[in-house]
Amino acid sequence: MLPRGNKLYSIIYQKCPRCQHGDLFEAGAYNLKRFTQMPEKCSHCGQRFELEPAFYSGAMYVSYALQVALFTTVYVALRVLFNPDMFVYMYSIIGAVIILFPVTLRLSRTIYLNFFVRYDSRFDKA
Ligand SMILES: [Zn+2]
Repeated sequence: MLPRGNKLYSIIYQKCPRCQHGDLFEAGAYNLKRFTQMPEKCSHCGQRFELEPAFYSGAMYVSYALQVALFTTVYVALRVLFNPDMFVYMYSIIGAVIILFPVTLRLSRTIYLNFFVRYDSRFDKA
């Protein structure tokens, strides 16, 4: 169990970076109609989640880094375990990207918001 106050806590549990109580997303990652929807403000401390218009367009840089890490992980795992044909690599990587798309999108938004909003223990009260 991660201690509160750690950025990893906010990122892993997808909680508000300031109070680490309010949820960053309204629905589950695989609710395909609503997985991108975020409340305007934190339900616990009132922190705005969109700091400026089109704030999350910057999250695509984080998403790029996550995708590269995913490509590398799938490639190395296949190479070490099976050493398959080139097409197996290609289809496996494309499949992993599609299946994990909601997870990487939400993770990149959470990490990006954590760059700009710091934890504040004054808001961490139940
Ligand atoms: Zn909050």
